[in-house]
Amino acid sequence: MDKLRVLIVGAGISGLALAKALLDRGFPVDVVERRAGDGRALGTGLYLPANAVRALQGLGVGGEVAKRAAPVARQRLHDHRGRPLAEFEAGRIWGEVGPCLAITRDDLHQVLRAAVDRSAVRHGVEVTAVAGDGTVTFADGATAGYDLVVGADGVNSAVRRSLFGGPEPRFLGQLCWRFIADDIAIPGITDWTARLGTKGRTFLTVQIGAGRVYCYADINSPVPTAPAGDWRGLFADFGGPVPRLLEQGADAYFAALHESENTVWARERAVLVGDAAHAFSPSMAQGGAMALEDAQVLGEVLGTEPDTGTALAAFQARRAERVAWVVAQNHRRDKARNLPTPLRNLTLRRAAERLFKANHAPLHPLP
Ligand SMILES: Cc1cc2nc3c(=O)[nH]c(=O)nc-3n(C[C@H](O)[C@H](O)[C@H](O)COP(=O)(O)OP(=O)(O)OC[C@H]3O[C@@H](n4cnc5c(N)ncnc54)[C@H](O)[C@@H]3O)c2cc1C
Repeated sequence: MDKLRVLIVGAGISGLALAKALLDRGFPVDVVERRAGDGRALGTGLYLPANAVRALQGLGVGGEVAKRAAPVARQRLHDHRGRPLAEFEAGRIWGEVGPCLAITRDDLHQVLRAAVDRSAVRHGVEVTAVAGDGTVTFADGATAGYDLVVGADGVNSAVRRSLFGGPEPRFLGQLCWRFIADDIAIPGITDWTARLGTKGRTFLTVQIGAGRVYCYADINSPVPTAPAGDWRGLFADFGGPVPRLLEQGADAYFAALHESENTVWARERAVLVGDAAHAFSPSMAQGGAMALEDAQVLGEVLGTEPDTGTALAAFQARRAERVAWVVAQNHRRDKARNLPTPLRNLTLRRAAERLFKANHAPLHPLP
């Protein structure tokens, strides 16, 4: 295929990963990112399950990521007081796929950013609309034509709104707070531990190395707005290391969780990747992995198929079933969080490892 002129809208995980995949194959690529500045990411963390780590290796940045990340060898489920419900090795869930890691968002972003030609990324440039013929309109009124426009612009994608329609993102009935704490002198924090409370509350800690721990807390809510008062009061009955970690969470990042479920991601001159195509709840921590796999697969088909139409059809066909699986598992898990607490605890004590294995097994083959 002749080298297409490609615009990637958004320099998040999916946009930067795709830029790397396409630049490696010799495509001329422009990336525009509406945020100004040096492109630093939110000061929180990311759990990278083994399929995300494998995709990063496939993109050629696995080594750099591993240098900055911490291994996650075990996963633990506790009740909110800190009493163990289940524990297993991450390797038993992922088998040959590889290791699981945890990293700060900023470190992952910096690695992807460094892997992409600096001149390819323009910050402070927002796309407002895209037409079916590949004409892009920017916020300053300028226009430009591209052979292919990639919407890597997140859950509220302007590219999706312009060309793909579909339902608006749906509030999932969950609110969350995230922060990075210094875990020095707080005993009992290693690897990945989810503490499950009543009324759908979860407090997750993930060790991210260099004496830091990524904390993620969520609750059910009928409305997508933060409740009045200090959020930390909502977790006041949690035990173990949680009270001491919460002392460091005054400035946590708040988010209302949404999902968006477009089923068509490809048109003649446009395609959606990452959260723009499929945003879901973080309960399986598969958002980053799916974004990275999208980039890997799209780069591959654009590099090998004879024309854009065939490549985009191949992309949609290769990704649809896998993404649908993750969406379905997220829905199942989100329902399970609302089981009566004694039933949920009994189920996890008896079957957590088996359930986690079954959730992830279809993600073992290469995307
Ligand atoms: C609370 C929470 C916790 C999560 N935890 C994990 C986890 O532990 N592990 C994991 O793998 N995943 C996790 N995820 C999911 C993961 O963060 C996302 O799936 C991933 O960031 C998607 O990347 P993206 O590049 O597609 O979108 P985004 O990260 O949203 O990036 C989109 C980019 O596009 C830019 N942009 C938007 N509109 C425009 C425009 N019109 N013009 C130009 N630029 C634009 C934005 O500024 C942004 O930089 C979590 C998600 C949430 C909400």
